[in-house]
Amino acid sequence: MSAPKPEIRTFLCRSDNIGVLIRDPATGACAAIDVPEAGPVLAALDEAGWTLTDILVTHRHGDHVEGIPEVKRRTGARVTAPLKAGDAVPDVDATVAEGDVVRVGDLVARVWETPGHCADHVTYWFEAAGVIFAGDTLFTLGCGRVMEAEPATLWRSLERFLPLPDETQVYSGHDYVLSNARFALAAEPGNAALAARAAEAERARAEGRFLIPTTLGAERATNPFLRAGEPSLTQGVDLAPGTQPSVVFAALRAWKNRF
Ligand SMILES: [Zn+2]
Repeated sequence: MSAPKPEIRTFLCRSDNIGVLIRDPATGACAAIDVPEAGPVLAALDEAGWTLTDILVTHRHGDHVEGIPEVKRRTGARVTAPLKAGDAVPDVDATVAEGDVVRVGDLVARVWETPGHCADHVTYWFEAAGVIFAGDTLFTLGCGRVMEAEPATLWRSLERFLPLPDETQVYSGHDYVLSNARFALAAEPGNAALAARAAEAERARAEGRFLIPTTLGAERATNPFLRAGEPSLTQGVDLAPGTQPSVVFAALRAWKNRF
């Protein structure tokens, strides 16, 4: 039996948050990944004719959870949130931690704890479907800000993405692709695949699209934060050849903060 293929819709919330719905066509179960804002999530459900059964929360920041009370009141969806978020996420029904499994109908996700952006951050990996919801850990051409840890903590979280198959689809919590592309080009000016991708990002923005999802293969080839182990990035931050990737990563992250 082949794995069920999910249906997925993305849409803009607030100014640069990405709303996502994932639905199992076999059972009709449907989850929102975070609820940055109730209105766009309810509108997307309406438009698709889908019934929300679950809300999967990646982390406790307000721009990911503010819409939960209204959406829960309107749909009755069950709210699953990181255990480490404590009581910062409203209306939680179930908590998850490293290695837990969550189900959306017949779709199965494994929970990774991916701290760094914040201490409670989790990532939902639907392995059989080849889809991962990275929240504010990994962005198209970028990564989250380090807010509650040493940079090496976020690097260790990002390292977990590296072995995933090329075609894995990565959904992130924000569309920062243009500023990320500008930084990536500064950090690794000789990367031809990156130059092509930056041009694609400009085109997408002009046409009102965002480059989400991205694929792990594309990120491995172009995202400077996943490429901290490459000699070209070590050189990009003026560190000695052979410097540990976590140190290169910290230098890249510090540079991006002032970029
Ligand atoms: Zn956040």
